[in-house]
Amino acid sequence: MSVQFERVALIGIGLIGSSLAHVMRREKIATHITGYARSEETRKTAVQLGLVDSIHSTAASAVKDADLVILCVPVGACAAIAMEIGGALKPGCIVTDVGSVKAAVVRDVAPHLPAGVHFVPGHPIAGTEQSGPASGFADLFLKRWCILTPLPGGDASAVTRLEKFWHSCGSEVELMTPEHHDLVLAITSHLPHLIAYNTVATAADLEEVTDSEVIKYSAGGFRDFTRIAASDPTMWRDVFLNNREAVLEMLGRFSEDLSALQRAIRWGDGEALFNLFTRAREVRRNIIAAGQETAAPDFGRDPKHR
Ligand code: NAP
Repeated sequence: MSVQFERVALIGIGLIGSSLAHVMRREKIATHITGYARSEETRKTAVQLGLVDSIHSTAASAVKDADLVILCVPVGACAAIAMEIGGALKPGCIVTDVGSVKAAVVRDVAPHLPAGVHFVPGHPIAGTEQSGPASGFADLFLKRWCILTPLPGGDASAVTRLEKFWHSCGSEVELMTPEHHDLVLAITSHLPHLIAYNTVATAADLEEVTDSEVIKYSAGGFRDFTRIAASDPTMWRDVFLNNREAVLEMLGRFSEDLSALQRAIRWGDGEALFNLFTRAREVRRNIIAAGQETAAPDFGRDPKHR
C-alpha cells in the first residue's frame, strides 16, 4: 500500500485512535503520525507503544502541517477541540472524526473550520468495550462498515481520499446523511447500550437477590449485557446527550413493543411470543450471513471462560 497522507494527526488516542495508529503503521498509510492526548499518562503510553512519531499536549500543535486530522475524542469534546484547532489547520487539509453521533458533530465542528479545509464526518462501526491507548489493534476495522456523512457542497475529492483511507484500514464504506446515520445507529447501537446499562443497573439494585448471586449465577444473556455495559461512561453519556431525538423516538417504539410482550406473557399468548422470537432469530441469521458476526456458539468464546 502506498503512502496516502504525509502527515496525519490523531486527536485523542483511545481505543479508536490507537487502532487507527496500528493499522496506519501496518499499511504504511502515513509518513508521520502526530498525536494529541490531554493526559500525560496517555501521551506516555502512546510514545511507549510507538503509536505516534510525535506527541503533543495541545491539539493545535498536533494539527500543524497535517494533511489529515482525525478527531478521536468523545462526541461532547469535539466543539472545544474544533475551536482550538480551527486557526492552526493547513489550508486544503481534510478533517474527519470517528464519533458515534453525526448531526451534533457537524453542528459543533463545522462552524469553527476555515474555508479551504475539507470536513468529512465519519463513523467506523467497529469497537469493543475496552478503552484507552493500550486497547487498540490493527484489525479493529477489518470487514466493518465505516459510514461517511459528507456535507452538501463539500469537496468530492476529499470524500474519495477518505473512502480510500478506510478501505486501506480494511473497512467497507457507505455514504449517508448525518440525520439518517443517527436514526440507524439509534436502533442498532445506542438503544442496545441503554437497555444493557438499565438491565445491569436493575440487577444491581435488586434487594431480594444479592450482588454475589447476580455474579455467581450470571447466565450468558446477563453476561453479554454486562460486557456492553462495561463501555466507556463518558463516551456513552455524550452519545445520549447528542442523539437525543433519535434515541427517544426509538425508545418510544421499543416501549410499545415491550408492552405488547408484557401483555402476551400476562395472557399466556404463546403464539405471539413464539412468532416474535422466530422473527428475531431470523435477524441474527441474516447478520451472520452478512459476515458481521460469528455463528460459533456463545460468540466463539473460549469454553473455559463461558
Ligand atoms: P477512549 O478509548 O475512551 O479514548 C478517548 C480519547 O479521547 C482519549 O485519548 C481521551 O484522553 C480523549 N478525551 C476524552 N475526553 C476528552 C476531552 N474532554 N478533551 C480532550 N480529549 C478527551 O474512546 P474511544 O472508544 O476511542 O472513542 C473515541 C470516539 O470514537 C468517540 O467519539 C466514540 O463515540 C467513537 N467510537 C467509539 C467506538 C467504541 O466502540 N469505543 C466505536 C466507534 C466510534 P485521555 O486518554 O488523555 O483521557
